[in-house]
Amino acid sequence: MTEPLSFELSRPAVTPPRLPDADLPGPAPADVLPPEMLRSRPPDLPRLSEPEIMRHYSRLASLNYSISENFYPLGSCTMKYNPVLNEQAAALPGFAGLHPYQDEDTIQGALELMWRLERALCAVVGVERVTLQPAAGAHGEWTALRMIAAYHDSRQENRTEVLVPDSAHGTNPASAALSGFKVVEVKSGSDGRISLADLESKLSRQTAALMLTNPNTLGLFEREILDIAEMVHATGAMLYYDGANLNAFMGICRPGDMGFDAVHMNLHKTFTTPHGGGGPGAGPVGVKAELVPFLPAPTVERQNGHLTLDYKRPQSIGRVRSFYGNFGMLVRAYTYILAMGGDGLSQASRDAVLSANYLRNLVEADLEMPHKGPCMHEFVASAHNLTSANGVRALDIAKALLDRQFYAPTVYFPLVVPEAIMVEPTETESKATLDSFAAAIKEIVAQAKTDPEVLHAEPRSTPVGRLDEVAAARKINAYLVGQAEDPILRWKAPSDTA
Ligand SMILES: *Cc1c(COP(=O)(O)O)cnc(C)c1O
Repeated sequence: MTEPLSFELSRPAVTPPRLPDADLPGPAPADVLPPEMLRSRPPDLPRLSEPEIMRHYSRLASLNYSISENFYPLGSCTMKYNPVLNEQAAALPGFAGLHPYQDEDTIQGALELMWRLERALCAVVGVERVTLQPAAGAHGEWTALRMIAAYHDSRQENRTEVLVPDSAHGTNPASAALSGFKVVEVKSGSDGRISLADLESKLSRQTAALMLTNPNTLGLFEREILDIAEMVHATGAMLYYDGANLNAFMGICRPGDMGFDAVHMNLHKTFTTPHGGGGPGAGPVGVKAELVPFLPAPTVERQNGHLTLDYKRPQSIGRVRSFYGNFGMLVRAYTYILAMGGDGLSQASRDAVLSANYLRNLVEADLEMPHKGPCMHEFVASAHNLTSANGVRALDIAKALLDRQFYAPTVYFPLVVPEAIMVEPTETESKATLDSFAAAIKEIVAQAKTDPEVLHAEPRSTPVGRLDEVAAARKINAYLVGQAEDPILRWKAPSDTA
C-alpha cells in the first residue's frame, strides 16, 4: 500500500497536459538576470498524462488520515472539525485577492476584520489588546516573553528566570530558553496541580514570569489560581497563560479575570482553523494594559471610523512576522466566531467538557486514571499497569488504535504521568463516535491481557507499520558525531546520485 513518487512514474515520451503560458508582464528573465543565474537545461520535472497525475494524487490522498475522515483524539491539540464555511469566507475574492503592499485606503475591509477579531479575542480572554502577528502557539509564547522582558527592562529590573511547571507543554521551557531566560521547574503535587509550596520556594526577584496553563495539561483546573496570581505579582513577576487550548472555557471564565497578564491563543486549535499540513497556524497574544506599549508593530487602530496601521510605537518589541500575520487564518477564525456567536462559543466549551467526561467515564473501566475527575476538555489515562503486568505500553495502544480506524491519542505527555495517554475528544464528535472509540480501547486492553504479542505487531493496515525508532536514533547520533553518512532525506534521480 504505497505510491511511487511522480518522478519514478514519469514517462518522458508522454504528452503532458497543456498549461497556459505565464502571463507575467515585463522583460524576459534572460534580459534581467546575470547569465550565471540562468538554467543551462530545463529542470528535471516528471512528465505524466492528466489522468495519471489525477490518479497519483488521488491515491496519495487515500493514504492520508484527516479530521474530515474520522476521529482525531489528540490531547492538547484540539483537533476539532474545520468548518467549510471558514474556507468559503477565506476564498472571497476581496480577501483572497489582497496584496500586503496595498495602500491602507484600499484594505479597509481587511483592517476592519482584524480590528473586530482583536476585540472578539479580547472579550474571550479578558485582556486589553491582542496582537494577531504570531504564526503559532510557540511563536506566541516567544512574542509574549519578549514583551515581558521589555517590560522588566523598562523598569530597570534585571530578571533572568522563567518558572515552568513540570506538567507544562514542551514549548513553554523551549520558548523561555530561546528568549534567553533560565528555566526553573515547579513541581506538581500528587493531585496533579501545581505545588504552592514549591512555587513559593522558587519565586524571587529573579523571576520574570510564571508560565501556566489552566486547566493544566492534565485537564485539571488550578483552583488556587487567585492565590498563585497574588504570589507571582507580589514579587513583581508576570503571570503568563498558555492558552493554546481554550476549549474548556470560552465564554465561561477568562484568564484576564484570573490575574494573568499575557496569554496566547491558538486559532488552529480552539478557533477551528486547520493545523499543520492543512495550512499555516496563528497564535495571537493578548496582554493587559502594562504590556500594551510593547506589542509588536504595526497595530490596527481606528480613528474617526478610518482604520490605520500604526508603526509609530516607540516601546514596541518590533515586528514578529512578515506583514500582519497569517491573514487567511484570521478570516477563518473570525468567521467561526461570528457563526457561533457568544452563546455558541460557550455552548461549544460546555459540550467539549461533557464529551471529555463522558469518554473518561467509559474508558475508566479499562485504563488507569492517575488523577481524580471530573476533568475539563481532556483527560490523561495511564497504561502503566498494563506495562508492568503484560508488557504493553502506551505506544502499543496508540498503534493498535490505528488498525481500528482511529488516530492515536497523544502519548508520553505530560511527562509527569508514566505511560501517559492523553485524550481530547472535542465538542464536534458525536456520542456514537465516542462510544465506538471506547469500545476499541476495551478490545485492545482485553487483547493486552490475553495475547499481548499480537499488539506488538500492530499496526498492520497502515501504509507503513512500526518504524525502527531505535535504529533511526542510532544512525542520527552516528551522523552527528561524523561516523555515518548523511541521513537520506530526499529523493535523488539515479543520474544525480553519481
Ligand atoms: C499546541 C500547544 C502549544 C504549541 O502550539 P503550536 O502552535 O504547536 O506552536 C503550546 N501549549 C499547549 C498547551 C499546546 O497544546
